[in-house]
Amino acid sequence: KAVVHWFKTDLRLQDNRALSTAFQIAKDNQIPVIGVYIVSPEDFEAHLTSPARVDFTLRTLKQLQKDLSELDIPLYVETQEKRKNIPTRIVELCQQWEAKHLCANLEYEVDELRRDAKVVRRCADHDIDFTPSHDTCVVTPGLLITGAGKQYAVYTPWFRSWLRFLKENPDYLEMSEDPGTNPGDARKQFADLFDCKIPDMPSSKSLSEKEKKRFEELYPAGEHEATRRLEKFLKEKCGDYDKNRSMLPGENTSALSPYFASGAISARTAVVTAKRANKNHLDRYDQGHMTWISEVAWRDFYRHVLVHWPFIWYGVLYYLLPPPSIHSRKSGLTDPPSMNKCFKPEATNIEWEYDADQFQAWSEGKTGFPIVDAAMRQLKHCAWMHNRTRMVVSSFLSKDLMIDWRRGERFFMEHLIDGDFASNHGGWGFGSSTGVDPQPYFRIFNPLRQSERFDPDGEYIRHWVPELRDVKGNAIHEPYSRGAGAIAQKNGYPRPIVEHAASRDRALARYKSALQG
Ligand code: FAD
Repeated sequence: KAVVHWFKTDLRLQDNRALSTAFQIAKDNQIPVIGVYIVSPEDFEAHLTSPARVDFTLRTLKQLQKDLSELDIPLYVETQEKRKNIPTRIVELCQQWEAKHLCANLEYEVDELRRDAKVVRRCADHDIDFTPSHDTCVVTPGLLITGAGKQYAVYTPWFRSWLRFLKENPDYLEMSEDPGTNPGDARKQFADLFDCKIPDMPSSKSLSEKEKKRFEELYPAGEHEATRRLEKFLKEKCGDYDKNRSMLPGENTSALSPYFASGAISARTAVVTAKRANKNHLDRYDQGHMTWISEVAWRDFYRHVLVHWPFIWYGVLYYLLPPPSIHSRKSGLTDPPSMNKCFKPEATNIEWEYDADQFQAWSEGKTGFPIVDAAMRQLKHCAWMHNRTRMVVSSFLSKDLMIDWRRGERFFMEHLIDGDFASNHGGWGFGSSTGVDPQPYFRIFNPLRQSERFDPDGEYIRHWVPELRDVKGNAIHEPYSRGAGAIAQKNGYPRPIVEHAASRDRALARYKSALQG
């Protein structure tokens, strides 16, 4: 009597592989499509989803429900406190609606794959035809293999292979057909589902009214906004993206990451649209467009890495345990039985520091390193941070402070509106030299040089660190040693909590002993 599409992190109508399949089945059988989404507060806890991201998801659901309703498609949303109940509940709903078909896009995180494996079994037990689709990556994980038959662990050859694959298999760049009006009469058969309300924020996550309003203004929800951003970015910024993307002042990147993370836009749509804007080339026609496409491809890359080396996944146990105390090495970060490992096994032996005060200074943007502090305050205010500074602060935490990168990985997830396990883990692996990146560990970011290079006039710093607003010239990058100590001190800006050269030496020695010893 119906086809159910189970929405997850694919909160859109356009270019949605599984939704398109659901539509096809519905058309062939002249039956209605029903959309379903299960809110799982336990999942939010287990995956450290930030309140900003939960709020963004709920707002996106509201918009999606409205858009679907205009096509006579109901979106039924309910909360399941226990995530383990989701597979059973999905099947119960299918039975309740007499749906013999269930469609969903696959998510590659370990917990999600386990959940979906249960759905497959439950559907088989109840004679429901479950059709999973690969949708979240442009190129499905597993399809790019080295000459030696292995998975790529290095981005550059992987990206060449990704481009080659897309040239040889253009159907991977074909966008899925947009759904039209519901083929079956859902308004008649499932009228009550159209009244379904989107739940409020779960009690475990909260935002102040001020934050809520700010995030609504910064990131209006839904796929229309995602499309608007993409088009604006391609028109106004993408051409110079290769030159400007690392510059901190101004808006030089697409700021689409929250929309990719919730699935309000697909990576495929982004690549296809950028390709079109690049005179339909997927090679070096215009450096700006190609550079942007290669950034979107990083998202695919880290998902491929996760699929091939799932031991990097933190697994639910790790996050259901109380947060490890940062004071004591004994009760400090310990590996859960098999997961949350870094990619490089030898990096597990790096000796970390567990200085709670330094971690707090980092997280509050009070390290005395203006570029680091500006970035951490941007994160607190916007639930988002520029990619350049994500690299700077992750390197600073794991090398200058020698604090276990997983503390930072966790903190990011708890605060980012675009928090995404694969990309975040990949980014932290890069910053801490424990991941797939082949850059040698001794390339340690110098916060001062990064600041001078990517915020030459100190505009970004002055914006986010008001204590330094009156500091003139290049003293902004290092006020205490460049003659602006009096202003900094008067305004309560802290002195640097570590000395970079000495910290660098310590990091080099520790990394060397773990990685080469
Ligand atoms: P643009 O520059 O416009 O790029 C377009 C899109 O490409 C992004 O939206 C993103 O989906 C993808 N992308 C770009 N760079 C990367 C990258 N290095 N890795 C993976 N995908 C990329 N990105 C997340 O989406 N979620 C995270 O939780 C996350 N955590 C990170 C943590 C660290 C320590 C680092 C160094 C990077 C992290 N990134 C993460 C990647 C990157 O910083 C953001 O995707 C980017 O800053 C988002 O801004 P944008 O949308 O304007 O990007």
